[in-house]
Amino acid sequence: MQIRKLNDLATLVSLSKRRGFVFQSSEIYGGLGSCWDYGPLGSLMKLNVKRAWWNAMTRRSDICGLDAAILMHPTVWKASGHIDGFSDPLVDCKDCKTRFRADNTDSYINEKKCPNCGSKNLSEPRNFNLMFKTHMGPVEDTGSVVYLRPETAQGHFVNFVNCQASTRYKIPFGIAAIGKSFRNEITPGNFIFRTREFEQMEMQYFVKPGTDEQWFETWKELRWGFYKKFGFKMENLRFHPHGPTELAHYAKAAFDIQYLFPMGWSELEGIHNRSNFDLTQHSKFSGKQLEYFDEPSKEKYVPFVIETAVGCDRMFLAFMCDAYREEVTMDDKGQEDVRVVLGFHPAIAPIKAAVLPLSKKPELTSVAEKLRDQLAEDFDVLYDESASIGKRYRRQDEIGTPYCVTVDFETLNDQAVTVRHRDTMKQDRVPIADLNQYVQVGMASWK
Ligand code: ATP
Repeated sequence: MQIRKLNDLATLVSLSKRRGFVFQSSEIYGGLGSCWDYGPLGSLMKLNVKRAWWNAMTRRSDICGLDAAILMHPTVWKASGHIDGFSDPLVDCKDCKTRFRADNTDSYINEKKCPNCGSKNLSEPRNFNLMFKTHMGPVEDTGSVVYLRPETAQGHFVNFVNCQASTRYKIPFGIAAIGKSFRNEITPGNFIFRTREFEQMEMQYFVKPGTDEQWFETWKELRWGFYKKFGFKMENLRFHPHGPTELAHYAKAAFDIQYLFPMGWSELEGIHNRSNFDLTQHSKFSGKQLEYFDEPSKEKYVPFVIETAVGCDRMFLAFMCDAYREEVTMDDKGQEDVRVVLGFHPAIAPIKAAVLPLSKKPELTSVAEKLRDQLAEDFDVLYDESASIGKRYRRQDEIGTPYCVTVDFETLNDQAVTVRHRDTMKQDRVPIADLNQYVQVGMASWK
């Protein structure tokens, strides 16, 4: 058998649409640039991605959760540096009207030429702020301007004292949040890799100055371990250190975890040593003390922050790319038979088990429907009675369902069903009464 991996994003875009993972936003109106909707399976899977991350963070005894508002006081963005610094340099071509980024367009960097028409009749680069602006309240004046947050992290900083005081956590401790962020990206694209509306999963870990470098190393290891635990092929991941020119204005050190997407190695997650930049800035702009008092040593200090930041949509895409495989065999006529499998870790798979009655005869479907309800008490499940059993197995393989449960005529005698495993295609006979536990144990001991 030959295994083919994913070669291009187009294959995934088409599977996603056909099977209900991801649809283009407002498709019936021609779509809206770089916005995507998660469909019946995609919305389930996205919740699983978030739950995996959320549990990895907040089930630790030193990290609490937070769900902060998207709209924040406008001074937050002044203090954070986003109003002055969160921008890309843009150039307009006066001939073909193309607008492009000055800092990553080769024809401009090398020859000061338009990447579209080659003209040299270009504007000077102008900084274009990536934050979306809107107005709060009924009057559109400058006093009512608010921004859609471009990152969730500032919610953690402005709530540092609230979270610490209410949990009584001692340093080192962290705050984790999942939420929407918005950036008016100049070059969005590659499906859900870079979009203008996206969800972030960010954790800020507050540490004593001087211990930050050690914690930075610890969080690099912990985040690497996360991808390993959820079944990523580790050869598709690597660390990329930021050189001095890549470092953000707030960062003392930064590493990306890059993933080998079909378009090449690209950032999946960032791990940053943000120093005490953010808390110091917010203290300055708000006039509030954002310090930590260490009771035993009577020391007062502004903590340093180690941040782990990853896009939920980007992690979703990485999970899909990594899981996709085509198993190719030759049939008796010498034709290729291709089994498409999304080999997800079961915690990520949108559907854990599919219930498939062997025939549409009521004596089987009535048992199968009851079985569906029994499994649905513990898992996301799906019921499918149309087409041959072989076709139905393939349908489930393509969406990554780890277990297919077949109800056959023997079930009526032995009160047992056949469980077929996605990856090995091995089959087990399992009593109906034990089925939930069988699936539970199988998922928990997944390798
Ligand atoms: P990139 O250079 O890839 O746009 P970034 O370095 O600006 O990303 P950060 O500001 O560090 O990204 O954001 C943290 C994480 O949020 C990124 O690692 C990525 O997973 C995700 N992310 C950032 N921008 C987007 C976007 N426009 N669409 C989807 N995910 C994003």
